[in-house]
Amino acid sequence: MLDFFTIFSKGGLVLWCFQGVRGPAATAPVNALIRSVLLQERGGNNSFTHEALTLKYKLDNQFELVFVVGFQKILTLTYVDKLIDDVHKEFRDKYRNEFQQKGALGLLNGTFDFKDDFMRLLRDAEESSKVRAPTVMKTFEQSLKSQKTVKCMIETRGEKPKEKVKNKKNKGSKKDGTEAVAVPSKASAADKQLSAAGDKEELTKDEILQKNREEFFRRHMKAGEKSRSPKPDAQKEKGKKPRVWDLGNSNAKVLDYSNSATNGSAEACPVEEFDPDMALGDKNREPGRLYDLEYESDDEAEEEKVVQNPLKPSVKKGGLGGMFGMLKGLVGSKSLTRDDMDPVLEKMKDHLIAKNVAAEIAVQLCESVAKKLEGKVMGTFTTVTSTVKQALQEALVQILQPQRRVDVLRDVMDAQRNRRPYVVTFCGVNGVGKSTNLAKISFWLIENGFSVLIAACDTFRAGAVEQLRTHTRRLNALHPPESHGGRTMVQLYEKGYGKDAAGIAMEAISYARNQGFDVVLVDTAGRMQDNAPLMTALAKLIAVNAPDLVLFVGEALVGNEAVDQLVKFNKALADHSMAQTPRLIDGIVLTKFDTIDDKVGAAISMTYITSKPIVFVGTGQTYCDLRSLNAKAVVAALMKA
Ligand code: GDP
Repeated sequence: MLDFFTIFSKGGLVLWCFQGVRGPAATAPVNALIRSVLLQERGGNNSFTHEALTLKYKLDNQFELVFVVGFQKILTLTYVDKLIDDVHKEFRDKYRNEFQQKGALGLLNGTFDFKDDFMRLLRDAEESSKVRAPTVMKTFEQSLKSQKTVKCMIETRGEKPKEKVKNKKNKGSKKDGTEAVAVPSKASAADKQLSAAGDKEELTKDEILQKNREEFFRRHMKAGEKSRSPKPDAQKEKGKKPRVWDLGNSNAKVLDYSNSATNGSAEACPVEEFDPDMALGDKNREPGRLYDLEYESDDEAEEEKVVQNPLKPSVKKGGLGGMFGMLKGLVGSKSLTRDDMDPVLEKMKDHLIAKNVAAEIAVQLCESVAKKLEGKVMGTFTTVTSTVKQALQEALVQILQPQRRVDVLRDVMDAQRNRRPYVVTFCGVNGVGKSTNLAKISFWLIENGFSVLIAACDTFRAGAVEQLRTHTRRLNALHPPESHGGRTMVQLYEKGYGKDAAGIAMEAISYARNQGFDVVLVDTAGRMQDNAPLMTALAKLIAVNAPDLVLFVGEALVGNEAVDQLVKFNKALADHSMAQTPRLIDGIVLTKFDTIDDKVGAAISMTYITSKPIVFVGTGQTYCDLRSLNAKAVVAALMKA
């Protein structure tokens, strides 16, 4: 049933390996596990899926060992967790002396004859899962139904309403409190009626029936009147009319600039229309350079406070207590246990959530750190808090550092050599800053000497095309053709509103190819992650045009929502794509970073969930407010008390 079981050291030495009869070689899946989970600090849950395999693993932090078992993911093997625990214990105990006395040399020269032990443990684990045999179905004789008599199943007339009321009552009380209150009042009313009927023996059966009928109709009429809400006649007749604002212009045609044929023609912006200094921002910067995010780290005193405060619980936890316990807590010579770490991790988790890290991810991160540290012997003069904090800090930096770096300038140059434009698509929900940051990126590209064609594929939101036109004019005013050898550095490709976005993007790309533009930036309409038709349209735009880079634009203000957006965008792109290997998000533009102070958690949430890099960070509303991510700066802000 198992495909493989392997034990290796964290340094990379394979100590022992069991290979299943027909299973695939362990190398590729184990390498994937190391690359995507162990090195990426994503060890929160002990399971990892690679192609058709599920891998479960356990870390021994004391002896720096990793135990990995692999099996087909369609199988539900209930004994795997037990097996991995048993093998871990047995292997560690058997070779403990070797590890302790010889250290790394023990691993190099060690002979680990573990096959028989492993096979025994495997048999035991398999047996233990079989012990709980499936429960046998009851026979009819054993069931409650068989004990019922025919008599008790016959309903007599008088009992029927009572029973029904009773059942209703039970259901209502189970569901919620409000119904439970309402139903008994009805029941008691019915009871009253019955008892009243019983009392007044002078009333004949027919009279009672008549009375009940009248009561029923009376109630029914009332309910009918209530449910028919009065609608003003005027509203019924009128259709929906657009609101006319006091100072606005009621003529929509006046406001629609989309027909003015500006396709590809970029007018220079009249200088008096905007203040170039305001649009530019920092004048002292080096043109074309993408500066790193800056963050001033805490002063030492504050750091100390963080480390010292949560120390207390760990000191208390020391079994010996008193002076010795305190020294042990301070100096530390024992291996870390889950109990030692739990209070600190709990604090860290709350801290991360307070900094806007999505709750679910904060939990996973702390879990991963715990798994990484459990059993590890603490260094001299380190506290539990500082050890956990250090590990968490390292994990966070690791998460923010992309597996694949996106170097836009290098890729644009590559595309240039191939005589084709480099295409970037921007997507995200409404109002996150897609157009603004697209303009900032255009500015940065222009400063680096690349010409840009902006494709206005947001054909939905009123004003979207005009917004891009204004940016195009301003960018051209800041970088007029005269200062670029007569070359217009940025143009807008637009077809107005209501058209097929994928088609416009395609036309824009071929226009850019013919006109020799270096880069095409495709702006798309904002859409909610749950809107299936719009997500299908986006998947189509991406599938048809095969951009070089798909950037998800998300604002740093969000917490848990960031994760939901990203997961659903990626899922929708995968689900609605016709291709076998669907095109997903390649990178992230994190916007409005200037508005969040040190609540920088969204950066962690977004990269953790996608494993994609944050390519650009928007830090304001001028063209210069574009930065590259500095993982250490973000982590420093995150760890700040
Ligand atoms: P879109 O609907 O996604 O295209 O969003 P817009 O580009 O229209 O931006 C929405 C608002 O966010 C505008 O008022 C922008 O000025 C503002 N905005 C965009 N990026 C940033 C940023 O990095 N910092 C700040 N403070 N505001 C931003």
